[in-house]
Amino acid sequence: MFNPINYIRTNVNQARVSWREWREQSRQLSTHNDLAKAKAKKIARKIDVSRREFMVAAGKLGMIATASALLAGTGLYVIVREKEQNDVFVPTFDLYKEDFPFPFTYLKNVLKDGKVTGEEVGQIVANHQGVGGLYALLAFGLVKRTGEQGEMSVRYSEFLDLSARMIKEGKISFQSTTIEEGNAIDFLYRIEKKAICYDPDILRKPQNIRITESSIIHELTHAFQDYHRRAIRWSQFEAEAHLAQSDFLFHVQPDLLHLTHWLQLYQIPEGFKYKFMFPRTTVSYAAGLSGADPGLGKFIEQARGNYLLIRTLQGSVDPRDLAIRQRQISSLSTPKAAYQELVESIEAARRIAQKKPLREQIACGSGSQAGDRLSTCYPASEIIDYGTRVQLLIMYLWGKGDFGEARNAANDYLLNRWQGVKHNLLDLPGMDVGMNLTGIK
Ligand SMILES: [Zn+2]
Repeated sequence: MFNPINYIRTNVNQARVSWREWREQSRQLSTHNDLAKAKAKKIARKIDVSRREFMVAAGKLGMIATASALLAGTGLYVIVREKEQNDVFVPTFDLYKEDFPFPFTYLKNVLKDGKVTGEEVGQIVANHQGVGGLYALLAFGLVKRTGEQGEMSVRYSEFLDLSARMIKEGKISFQSTTIEEGNAIDFLYRIEKKAICYDPDILRKPQNIRITESSIIHELTHAFQDYHRRAIRWSQFEAEAHLAQSDFLFHVQPDLLHLTHWLQLYQIPEGFKYKFMFPRTTVSYAAGLSGADPGLGKFIEQARGNYLLIRTLQGSVDPRDLAIRQRQISSLSTPKAAYQELVESIEAARRIAQKKPLREQIACGSGSQAGDRLSTCYPASEIIDYGTRVQLLIMYLWGKGDFGEARNAANDYLLNRWQGVKHNLLDLPGMDVGMNLTGIK
């Protein structure tokens, strides 16, 4: 998914909060960061390997009931469920369920809806390690179900077939990771490991399951791009993956798409309510295009420009500065004065920031290596100032519960007001680095 390089912690409650609460939360911003650091690291559970291997082997032979009985006889407690066709996954589930944040019935249904066979389950479990096998089963069931039920546009069928094969053969693995502080990400594709990494702590937070599934689709798209290995720009790499993810949501739960273009995630205490992807109207247009349609190429190009612009403006935010200004704003006497102050200061900052071409205001370091990200780029202080003020307004509106207004502000200040300049960012060396990857659109 969108791997944000900024450290914005919009720790405002997604629920409606009062002006006073918003002020209170602003004051708590700095302590929040300290608390997050103190979070204890989870210790990986030790797994009895021999038991696991025994169950895997038994599963492959379809001997689940017998295997369970045998283990029960040796004093190990194994839940024996009625054996069904895809219930070969049950022993694996029972072994690793503590480390797997999704419910039994959910995984069972995904496998059932994907028409996953017992033999396929056996292969997957044999080709993946530990709890990674459960994630592999989930991802495999998901792509099979997506194909079975037409949950993505037709042009993704090759992607779905290849993803299923790579998961089954263990060519993509699933690994637990703690994703760096401030980047609250559920899944992440790591090219060097050929692995989809997941953060179990993030996944334990409540999140709409369709969003979670769409994140898996996004990462599988990166794996697919990686598999094909041709030259591609970073912005294209992400544009394609976000489009695939949005296409999936468009088919399964379109109301999860929204009107904001690629706005940063909002982190809320309970997890994520929204992830910001392509707007629904543009996805519906793209969903009807074939991979060979020139309209799709233009669409991706547009998306790349938006992506780089939003990354630049949101990614430039200085978190310490943001916290200081949040306190300043919250000390103003009334909400109206605060709003006015915010809007006026954005306008003033914009006039300054737009005096020079955007491209000239971003200095990028050695970004020629594949996989380098925007973190090697340094926006000018004018851009940082503008980005920080806009973020402050968005957080303010979001905190008040004016979600529509927050989205409008994001579209307006992060995109609309920069029309005509955003394409300056395309192919900016270091920022939009080339990668040896390509794939579907
Ligand atoms: Zn991505």
